[in-house]
Amino acid sequence: MKDQLKLLWQLQSLEQEKKALTAKKEKIKTDEVRRLWQEIRLMGQAVIADRDKLMCMQKVASRHEIDLAEVADQLRQMEEHLYKGEITNIKEMEQVKVKCDTLRQEIGAREEDVLRAMEECERLANQISNIEEQLKKKKSIHSVKQQGITQSIGYVEECLEEIDKRYHIALEKIEQKTYDQYASLARKIVYPVAKVENGVCSGCRRGIPASQVSSVAAHPVYCDNCGRMLLMDCQ
Ligand SMILES: [Zn+2]
Repeated sequence: MKDQLKLLWQLQSLEQEKKALTAKKEKIKTDEVRRLWQEIRLMGQAVIADRDKLMCMQKVASRHEIDLAEVADQLRQMEEHLYKGEITNIKEMEQVKVKCDTLRQEIGAREEDVLRAMEECERLANQISNIEEQLKKKKSIHSVKQQGITQSIGYVEECLEEIDKRYHIALEKIEQKTYDQYASLARKIVYPVAKVENGVCSGCRRGIPASQVSSVAAHPVYCDNCGRMLLMDCQ
């Protein structure tokens, strides 16, 4: 009986180990990595949107440059007309001078437009490169964390497989009748096998009467207090 009880004790210990390892596996933090990946995804989308925006802004800036060149060309032609001495009429000359002044003012305003558009493009380009830099860092952190998690889970799974093997080896050696007693008791009591060490039941910490401890039983002996099957240390 004692060998069978020892095997049951082993079975129960393996069940406890398995439970602890499963809890450990569940505690491995995957939330943080998932959150990080979500951040990376959103940042990636923001970069794509910003790049599209930058492209539009660059088009606007070059449109402003073309407009500026056109007005500058108009002014050049008008000044040429004015200074070549082709105009003899004073009134017409005054009108052309006024037009030239207007064009100069327009050029000033358009130069500001070009400058502003270029500054905006530069600001957005800097913003994009900052986000890309952050994205690179986050991706490398994510990869390290992901690797760590994969390793931890892999290790726990290996241990669980090993436990399963040992569990089946022990189970094969247990007689059906003994196992049935154990299984039926396990439905009522959590971890139904207790060891008696120094006359004390390991399940409930109560003393076991000496007569029970010393009895060499062919059948399992149960703790009067908690009802567990007892594995005696002196059997
Ligand atoms: Zn007990």
